[in-house]
Amino acid sequence: MSAGDLEGGRTARLGLYDAAALARAAEVLEEVQRRGLEVVRLSFVDQHGILRGKALAAAALASAFRSGVAMTSTLLLKDTSHRTVFPVWEGGPGIGDGRLNGAGDMLMLPDPETFRVLPWSQHNGWMLCDLRYADGGEMPFCPRSILKRSVARLAADGLRMTCGLEVEFHVHRVEDARLAHADAGMPGAPPETALLAQGYQYLTEARYDALEEAMDAIRRASQKLGLPVRSMEVEFGPSQCEMTFEPADPLSHADAMVLFRHATKEVCRRMGLHASFMSRPRLEGVVPCGWHLHQSVGDAGGRNLFAPEGDGLTPTASGWIAGLLERAEESCMLTTPTVNGYKRYQPFMLAPDRIQWGRDNKGAMIRALIAPGDAASRVENRVAEPAACPHLVFAAQIEAGRDGTARGLPAPEPVEDPYGSDAPRLPADLGAAVDAFEASDLWPAVWGADTVRWLSTIKRAEWRRYLATVSEWEQREYYGLF
Ligand code: GLU
Ligand code: MG
Repeated sequence: MSAGDLEGGRTARLGLYDAAALARAAEVLEEVQRRGLEVVRLSFVDQHGILRGKALAAAALASAFRSGVAMTSTLLLKDTSHRTVFPVWEGGPGIGDGRLNGAGDMLMLPDPETFRVLPWSQHNGWMLCDLRYADGGEMPFCPRSILKRSVARLAADGLRMTCGLEVEFHVHRVEDARLAHADAGMPGAPPETALLAQGYQYLTEARYDALEEAMDAIRRASQKLGLPVRSMEVEFGPSQCEMTFEPADPLSHADAMVLFRHATKEVCRRMGLHASFMSRPRLEGVVPCGWHLHQSVGDAGGRNLFAPEGDGLTPTASGWIAGLLERAEESCMLTTPTVNGYKRYQPFMLAPDRIQWGRDNKGAMIRALIAPGDAASRVENRVAEPAACPHLVFAAQIEAGRDGTARGLPAPEPVEDPYGSDAPRLPADLGAAVDAFEASDLWPAVWGADTVRWLSTIKRAEWRRYLATVSEWEQREYYGLF
């Protein structure tokens, strides 16, 4: 099959693939045939940063490029329990100008640039997809497309962001996968697990050795997927790991984060292990996991505009930091989208609890690593939890930073005593974060009111379900006493 054969397809006619993408798609078809792959898994990034999609028989891939793949649109309307939280039938969900009514189909469009062979199941290809309405129209509720639009807006300002990732997570041994019939549900029972190592020996050789089998498997899979792994580290807590990645552009890294999380979970599952990116699992002695996002902004020629010539911040760095701070509260629903993530914001735990920046200070939300003559000058935003949807996080960082830079906002004084300062607090819980997200004037301006309603409705549904649950804390506190 050549690019010419794909040209006559519906996707090409609608202009959804340009000539370069068609040529790359033809190469992918050839590669699938040459390697004798049986299946190609097509996945899109949903609102939670979870991959969903269909596994196609290899022979069906050409038609996927020519026509796209039909996908149920209700997948965009689900919370983390996989419940559809919008009305779908009578009247429709109230977003998406009627095109999401009736649980109809949308279109998944494979991005041939993302094609990979699954290292741990080598008869499978893997490709990320963008979403479109069934008629080919632009889909406002596709996190990958949202990020692409933010990157393009930044490029129109003559700027581009470079980012690096530091991801913390837990790996445990599965003791009981909880697969009894009674364990099923929405959500199902979580697995029962044990430690691989007892922790509290931060970065020691001995702990690395104890975790090596899992670390090696995760690293090898990541490298074979083409992810730019830089280091594997033993974190502070029991069975807590960290991986860091070399700098790259935002879309590559948002894709990398999603692929990394799925690769880690899938590789671990095959080894009888359970990997989790939940920030603060309810396990004895646990240390919460953060996701630190390093970022700098360059001009179109690649010059780092955060790198100062003398002391002080460049105007771009100052505006970017000021923008991230000003919008931190209203971004928090995206950087920290789970009920659980807010339980990480505790003082003296190397996690932020208030909105401020400092110079190489790990207690501050934004840690500036900026020095005269350092071409790698950057800021590290320590606010996000590892469970966040990376495409939405990066898009939010770009829009907040861009807004601060465009308005010429000055960064305030850096903080030296992050847990003693009078800086405003991060939202106390997911409910407060949803309120702040909805009250923002930035998100409707850059993404549109429909997109804001889409995300806040889903997160508010999750928050309300949580509030409606009687917790163990309440039972213990009141049941005996009153
Ligand atoms: N686990 C800490 C967090 O939640 C970060 C520890 C570190 O500095 O690497 O962000
Ligand atoms: Mg760390």
